[in-house]
Amino acid sequence: MSSTLIHHIGELVTNDPQRGGLLGIVEDAALVVEGGTVAWVGAAADAPPADEAYDAGGRAVLPGFVDSHSHLVFAGDRAAEFAARMAGESYAAGGIRTTVAATREATDEQLTSHVARLVQEMHRQGTTTLEIKSGYGLTTRDEARSLAIARQFTDETTFLGAHVVPEGTDPAAYVELVTGSMLEAALPHARWIDAFCERGAFDGDQARAVLEAGRTAGLRGRLHANQLGPGPGVRLAAELGLLAVDHCTYLEDADVDALRDSGTIATLLPGVEFSTRQPYPDARRLLDAGVRVALASDCNPGSCFTSSIPLCIALAVREMGMTPAEAVHAVTQRGAEALGRDDVGALVPGHRADLVLLDAPTHVHLAYRPGVPLVAGVWLAGRPT
Ligand SMILES: [Zn+2]
Repeated sequence: MSSTLIHHIGELVTNDPQRGGLLGIVEDAALVVEGGTVAWVGAAADAPPADEAYDAGGRAVLPGFVDSHSHLVFAGDRAAEFAARMAGESYAAGGIRTTVAATREATDEQLTSHVARLVQEMHRQGTTTLEIKSGYGLTTRDEARSLAIARQFTDETTFLGAHVVPEGTDPAAYVELVTGSMLEAALPHARWIDAFCERGAFDGDQARAVLEAGRTAGLRGRLHANQLGPGPGVRLAAELGLLAVDHCTYLEDADVDALRDSGTIATLLPGVEFSTRQPYPDARRLLDAGVRVALASDCNPGSCFTSSIPLCIALAVREMGMTPAEAVHAVTQRGAEALGRDDVGALVPGHRADLVLLDAPTHVHLAYRPGVPLVAGVWLAGRPT
């Protein structure tokens, strides 16, 4: 098995708690990869010999970004809806139905090539692990094929039949379908189950029924909650012991307490508030309360069509009270935790050698230089891509 020494790293973000500081930073660092995983990390002066060497040119090196929330399987375009929103119309959950119609019409090949393009777009911006949800099919056939397509790109696939009640369908009958034959068809292709717990989508009881049915069938739960207003979703997620609950924009004190006590991760999606011109979630309040906070893109055609984790970092720092270190931690270590993964999100021996090289001396530039394409290179499992 051949090994590669990456040397001349100006700043290495390891996320290794034993190295001190939130990010476990090593200056003037080197890293050895072997067989797709990290074999050694430390000061360049102490680096062991390796078969090959790669000069990082003084760049900052970070763990690849883990995007734990995306909706990439869809067809159609909602640019006109975005323009209307920017002209003063408000965002409502029902716009999802436009995408559902286009997705049902699309062929497998069209959907697959569209996902491939978006995954490539994410990858170029530093994302090396991602989650993909279904949720624009909303029939047994279309949810199952959405998940089968997503599975070609990631193991972290999420069944989101409970995204919105399809037009002309009785809500109770639809929940029965989602928890019955649709769930059964989704099972071979999904690791997770999710629901959109929001006014205009699914209420607390319906979301609970979906999550419990998924759990009984062997899927792990995650939840969209408290995006457009206060609601029962965050406390439901905490009560069910979910790994993560996503959005968390409108929180009462009891929600924050429940997150802290349960250990459920709050995954904040600042691209959504940016793209819908809504107030941002208060990351500072959550962090100060001792809640674990992750950041993700929520890349989707309606409320947030960005695939850029660097943009999310910049927004979280500028608008949500996070430090640059907290934001970087939230898209690496915390993103991995939000997917229950202990093999990515950090650069420590034994982890996958998924890395981002920045054309910058430090991770701080991701927030300090917003909108600038700083990602100079991405390595997947020990290989430059
Ligand atoms: Zn979402």
